Amino acid sequence: MLHTRIVAALTSVIGLSLAATSAQAAAEAPYLSNSQFQQCLDGLKNSSTFRGVNSSTFEQYRPSEPDSSVISSLNYQPEFQKDVWDYLSSLVDKERVEDGIRAKHEMADTLRRIESRYGVKAEHVLGVWGVESNFGQTLGKKDLFQSLATLSCFDRRQSYFRGEYANALKIVQNGDIAASDMKGSWAGAFGQTQFMPGTFLDLAVDFDGDGRRDLVNSKPDALASTANFLAKRGYRSGEPWGYEVKIPSGYWGSNSRTDKKPMSYWRDKGFTLADGRPIPYDLSSAGLLLPAGLKGPAFLVGKNFDTFYSYNASENYALAIAHLSDLIEKENSSNTDFITAWPTDDPGISRQQAKDIQQGLINAGYDIGEVDGIIGDNTRKAIQQYQTSKGMFPADGRAGQKFYRLINSNQGASSQSSYPQYNQTRIQQGVASTTNTDSIGRLIKQQDGAGKVILKDGSLRIIRTDTGK
Ligand code: CA
Repeated sequence: MLHTRIVAALTSVIGLSLAATSAQAAAEAPYLSNSQFQQCLDGLKNSSTFRGVNSSTFEQYRPSEPDSSVISSLNYQPEFQKDVWDYLSSLVDKERVEDGIRAKHEMADTLRRIESRYGVKAEHVLGVWGVESNFGQTLGKKDLFQSLATLSCFDRRQSYFRGEYANALKIVQNGDIAASDMKGSWAGAFGQTQFMPGTFLDLAVDFDGDGRRDLVNSKPDALASTANFLAKRGYRSGEPWGYEVKIPSGYWGSNSRTDKKPMSYWRDKGFTLADGRPIPYDLSSAGLLLPAGLKGPAFLVGKNFDTFYSYNASENYALAIAHLSDLIEKENSSNTDFITAWPTDDPGISRQQAKDIQQGLINAGYDIGEVDGIIGDNTRKAIQQYQTSKGMFPADGRAGQKFYRLINSNQGASSQSSYPQYNQTRIQQGVASTTNTDSIGRLIKQQDGAGKVILKDGSLRIIRTDTGK
């Protein structure tokens, strides 16, 4: 979790912040002078930011050299855009729903006690836990002191990272977490909740009563801290996050998550649940969220959705938490789709399918490193080369259902039977200019480090705008 909007915008989505950058970072690591680094640390040690950190603590965990890969991650510019359906399908897949259902049963007693103390629904806590750290399975491996010290002394946002570096040292000094457990994302988010150190100091709680707030090793502490975070951000007990809905034909009106309207507004406009049933009366107000434009799934989202959003400042991220929590509640892992399909004829893939694609690429002779189910730049480059070698256009490097089927069934073969239709669609989307968007200009948004552009066919493209930083 990245506590401030500023830093959240740097990474945009958790999938990028935790995983996809590592290979890229190693390849483009800048040279950082160690003498300059040590000089900077000498200065920090005596600065006001580090008041409250003992000199002996500072020296004990002082890195012997900077880690240049975190500067690469800070300045990482993804070469490939990610469609919302690709983002959602990798985060909310059969495997993660099954893991979540299992966790719900294993932690049932703890979750009940957390719900009664903080008023936060068990499935909502599980949704955050699953998206943030895969239920505690993916915590990040970077040494926090080295990462934060490097970010404190080089490149942008030094003042923010200096504060977090001091906070990380205070956590160890307080005895909450062992120094050897202070590992996490390149930006310093750590533990099962992926809190930044400052968020930890403000909001972490000791729920198992051992006197330490241990978000690395204690599931009760991690889950209660997540509930505490959501409660402090204004969570409303007993309210759902929102619903998938059906937009009435000819609808023209508010279409912003933050533009909350009373539910009577939406009923009067003719909105129903996506399956046609009337909208229930358990939300006090809601905004309309259209992650992929008018033709894709639509959602009415309430205050609790906003508390998910505040965890990582991305609407797609919050939607992943919301959707995962619904599927865990229904104990439904067999169908992770929304009722309304995404506006694409080439939907996204699960992590297992991503692994199959990676294995297929390795079998075809591409050096993409380990099979990890994460479609990072290396895998995308290999897909692009594979597409080029098969004469496919556009060779966009995207791992969707069509590429999955192709590499599975035609490894090494030159069959392109499934591609003409694919090409046509992509070309139509590709040439759709933005000149016609003024008529529905109210739908164009720019936030979360992404611009949303409506195409002529009513579909929507997400374009990253934060990468020029
Ligand atoms: Ca504890």
